[in-house]
Order: sequence, then structure tokens, then C-alpha cells
Amino acid sequence: MKDQRPPSVDALARSLESSGLPHPLRVEVARHAIAEDRVQQVEGLARERRRRLLIPVINGTGTLLHTNLGRSPVTVNSPAAYANVELDLTTGQRGSRQRAIGDLADPAFGAEDAIVVNNCAAALLLVLAALAPGRGAAVSRGELVEIGGAFRVPDVMRQSGAQLIEVGTTNRTRISDFRTAATATDMALVLSVHQSNYRISGFSEQTTVAELATLGLPVVADIGSGLLDAACPWLQGPPPAWLQGEPAARQTIESGADLVIFSGDKLLGGPQAGIIAGRADLVRTCAGHPLARALRPGGLVLDALQDTLLSYLRREGDAIPFWRMAALPVAHVLARAEAIAAAVGSDRVSTISTEAVPGGGTLPGRTIPSAGLRLKGDHTTALRNNEPVPIIARLHEGHTIVDVRTVQPEQDTVVADALTSALS
Ligand SMILES: *Cc1c(COP(=O)(O)O)cnc(C)c1O
Repeated sequence: MKDQRPPSVDALARSLESSGLPHPLRVEVARHAIAEDRVQQVEGLARERRRRLLIPVINGTGTLLHTNLGRSPVTVNSPAAYANVELDLTTGQRGSRQRAIGDLADPAFGAEDAIVVNNCAAALLLVLAALAPGRGAAVSRGELVEIGGAFRVPDVMRQSGAQLIEVGTTNRTRISDFRTAATATDMALVLSVHQSNYRISGFSEQTTVAELATLGLPVVADIGSGLLDAACPWLQGPPPAWLQGEPAARQTIESGADLVIFSGDKLLGGPQAGIIAGRADLVRTCAGHPLARALRPGGLVLDALQDTLLSYLRREGDAIPFWRMAALPVAHVLARAEAIAAAVGSDRVSTISTEAVPGGGTLPGRTIPSAGLRLKGDHTTALRNNEPVPIIARLHEGHTIVDVRTVQPEQDTVVADALTSALS
């Protein structure tokens, strides 16, 4: 007679050694399997547990900045090492963790100084708290936007302690509206927010940064995505057509913004961060506010951001993963898709022209010509369950699309193998 009692938690946990999970997590999985009477499926449960950790995935969606996949991919220098995060190597004295990036702001995009916080929402919060405490910050009603992930400009403003002064109407705001508001209120600054993820068309008008600069108050421009320079000198050719109209840090400062704020992980192509850049005195006031300490990033982020800025200064767009993917000629993407299709060698897979998108709540409606693979039928779940690297694909009219522009070239063989087993 076979023993009908369930196996011990310990024995079951030990049987999961090859899962790579640490012992306490294997025990958790084993307990769960026994309690749910799913001992037969314990290996699957361990796999599920591993997949609730952060693990690398292959982005086959064609959305370059995919918020669910961590926006822009970044290279992180891995060996354990100390760095002069807060040590001035010249004097041997304590320095500022903001110095290295601050000193790159001028050569990289023409800002006198800059500091880094956790994200652009934190940058807006800090700027308002430091520059308009208990006073008014004026914004056009057409720019009181929600960016996604519940980032709402009016809500952030309320938390900052600044008072929102709404100016103009949803579709039209003129500089005269700001002038009128400035005489009637205690206006500490003017905020211009890029509409990022939506567009007002038709009978509409927004004031430009250059016009706002004539008010004689500090102008803060939230440009959102962190395009550094509209001329894109880090690319081989001219700026791509899909970038048209996106505000850039250098030109926004040139047109009169006292501060620009932007994300590190959108079009900048760096780690998650928020950058506050511009007039040195204003940047210093932000850095000196008590919230700056709560919002400051760690050395890993500063290091990755510095790498990104150095790549811009070397004009090496290809060293920045976002720009490498974005600038790849469509013929190259198609050639890779063809090679993958040939490796799979099935009549149920074919190459297809696609439209990739910048993503990350930037440039709504803009597409980047791309190419990928089309599998007959819905294989998105099988691909997402691919081991050890999940592949995130798109479903289009009942068929599976893997856009190759967002796949790193060294992952092409992984994709080919995964497609082969999904179809088998
Ligand atoms: C994306 C965006 C933000 C929020 O940036 P996070 O870095 O995600 O906090 C703020 N403002 C604008 C205009 C944006 O596009």
C-alpha cells in the first residue's frame, strides 16, 4: 500500500532545489501546495513564485517605453564597488551627490545646473514646495493633465503646499490671461506642462514658454519626456519624423524657461529619475528644501544616469538602448524578423510590417515603421510562460505579433526557440 499521507513540507521544499528559489520561498510554495492539495503541481507553483519576482523579459510589443516593462531598458554596471557619491576627491571633504550630474547639465543640454530626484512627479512636487510654498503657481486650464498611473498635476500641486491658480480655458489660454491673473493673485511662478499623452486639436491655443517668460516670474516647464535636444545630434541622420513637436530641454531653456523638469526613463532613455534643471539659484533652492532629502535617488540611479548623459556627450546614440532601438532602420528590423522566421521554419509564422510606438505616455498617435513576426492564432500566453525568459507579445485580430524593433538583437535566437515551441 502506498503511503496516502501528504509529503512533509520539508521534503517537498527540498525537491524544489532546482527552482533557484531560496529555501524560505520553497517552504512557502510547499506549504501552499499541501494546503491546496496541489502537490502534483508543486513545480509549476514554484515557477509561478519565481515569476512573481522581478525577472528579465523580452519586449515583443513594439512599444519602446513600456511602462509595465520598466520603460527604458538601462545598462547597470554590476561589480560591487564604492563610488565617490558624496566625496569630493579633490578636497577629500564631503561633497554633494548631485554634483556629477549637475556639472554635466550645461554641456549636455545648456542648463546652468541640475539635480536628480526619483521621478518627474517628485521633481514637480519639489519645485513647487521649494519655490511656491503657500503661494500661487499658475497653470493653463488646458495643461491640468493626468499623465497616467494617476499622476494628476492638480493633485501634486495640492500636496506641495502651492496654490493652484487656474488660467484661461481648456482649449484656449492667452498670455493676457496670465497677465490678468498675475495682478490679482500672489503668483510665485508659472508652470507650463507638456500635454504628453493627449492633444487638443481644432480651435485651441496655448501660450508658449517664450511668451510666459515675458511675465517676469520664474517659468517652470514640465516637458515630461526628457528629449535633450530637438536636433538629436546623437543620431546619424536628421531627427526622426515621429519626434516632431516634442519639446526638448535645450530649446525650452533657450526660449526662456527658468527651470525644466523631465523624466529620466522616457525619451532620455536612462533610469527612472526626475531631473530639475536650469537657473543655478533656483536649482539650489530646490536642493536645499527638506523634501530633497526624501526624494533623492541612490548611487545606482545616479551612475546609470551619468552613463546616459556621457553617451549623449559622445554623440553615441547607439549606446543608449532606447535610441538604438528607435533609430534602427526598418530594413534591419525586417532582416532580423526574416532570420527568425527562417529559423522557426513553420508555415504558421510569417514576417509582417508593423508600427512600433515610442510609448511611456509620450507622442500619442506617432508610430515608428517596424517589422515583426505574425503567428497564426493566440500564442501570447504560451510566450509569456516561456522559460526562463518570458516574451511579451501582442494580439492583433486573433493572431500573435512579436515586434522585433523592441527585441534586443542578442535575444533573437531566444525568440526563435520560443516561437518554435509555442507552435509545436
Ligand atoms: C510622464 C510625465 C510626468 C511624470 O513623470 P514620472 O517620471 O513618471 O513621474 C510628468 N509630467 C509630464 C509632462 C510627463 O509626460
